[in-house]
Amino acid sequence: MSLPKKRKTDSADGGGGEGNGGGEEDDGGERDPGGLEEARETEQGARDRLYYECYSDVSVHEEMIADRVRTDAYRLGILRNWASLRGKTVLDVGAGTGILSVFCAQAGARRVYAVEASDIWQQAREVVRLNGLEDRVHVLPGPVETVELPERVDAIVSEWMGYGLLHESMLASVLHARAKWLKEGGLLLPASAELFLAPINDRTLEWRLGFWGEVKQRYGVDMSCLEGFATRCLMGHSEIVVQGLTGEEVLARPQRFAQLQLDRDGLQQELQAGVGGRFSCRCYGSAPMHGFALWFQVTFPGGDGEKPLVLSTSPFHPETHWKQALLYLDEPLQVEQDMDISGEITLSPSRDNPRHLRVLLRYKVGDQEEKTKDFRMGD
Ligand code: SAH
Repeated sequence: MSLPKKRKTDSADGGGGEGNGGGEEDDGGERDPGGLEEARETEQGARDRLYYECYSDVSVHEEMIADRVRTDAYRLGILRNWASLRGKTVLDVGAGTGILSVFCAQAGARRVYAVEASDIWQQAREVVRLNGLEDRVHVLPGPVETVELPERVDAIVSEWMGYGLLHESMLASVLHARAKWLKEGGLLLPASAELFLAPINDRTLEWRLGFWGEVKQRYGVDMSCLEGFATRCLMGHSEIVVQGLTGEEVLARPQRFAQLQLDRDGLQQELQAGVGGRFSCRCYGSAPMHGFALWFQVTFPGGDGEKPLVLSTSPFHPETHWKQALLYLDEPLQVEQDMDISGEITLSPSRDNPRHLRVLLRYKVGDQEEKTKDFRMGD
């Protein structure tokens, strides 16, 4: 795990895998449902441990804090809510190095509980001390699901978003904390999230596919026959590709297909079942379409007389470390101006590892027959 892992989780198979749960070789002896249950829990525990380990290294925190769009949005989103935070108590879910907790204290919070499950909590404690805030910011090691706080809180702050918004499934922990520790009507920072999608022409991919047709010009060897192979390698898989695009690579008006209000009853169940929606758009012009880009934004409530603050990961806005999540078709498809593109998209936790994002896409381009593709976030 030498790479910064933020937002990508290890598969955490730990040699266990799914196939171990018994099967044809079973000798028909008595099963122990309790034992199975225990095994499942152990598997989940092992996955969580691996997940938290990703956050115990410096690189991932460097990447997040160096992402100015992200960190400035949280800073302003918190500071602009100073009127609601002043003299109040806050829970920071997944405090990491503690920066958001310090922002909350700077906004005037009386007490901040900085809960962090990975070993990085030790650095958070140092940061709190260095900033002279030990009396107001209490760093509590452990998963928020089991940590005990001495009181309910007036606000929850958390930076829980993964690639494609829901990779890592950390929102479940925030919702758990909300139900357990947030006072009735308490403040959530951010308070909502929205998901968008648009058909794309990926210029980098276009260049890579066209590359083989240009080799002859360069070296006198015709290698254009490799284009089909390159297409199969680069597009004919079902991994979600994290890559930054620009607005020019977007082929039609972006579609908002889901909105998550974090204080909504039953949101946890919605996430389990899969969030998503239908989309329908018209192409701006002719181009090879490579697939769809998926992105999100989150919104902080405006505070006293202020406008709500939006942290966007759109290709039309400055790039963040989340970039966009790309869903490639199996091969490029030529689209023309005003061609209709429609379909349905569902994001859900992967069955073999609930921390991994799965995306089910049903789409129809022009007169082509409707197709489906099942994606998952790769490691
Ligand atoms: N708040 C920090 C870190 C955000 S990254 C910042 O904005 O810079 C998310 C952090 O949440 C990681 O450090 C991860 O270890 C932690 N985390 C994820 N799930 C958690 C849980 N259930 N309980 C406590 N910490 C959790």
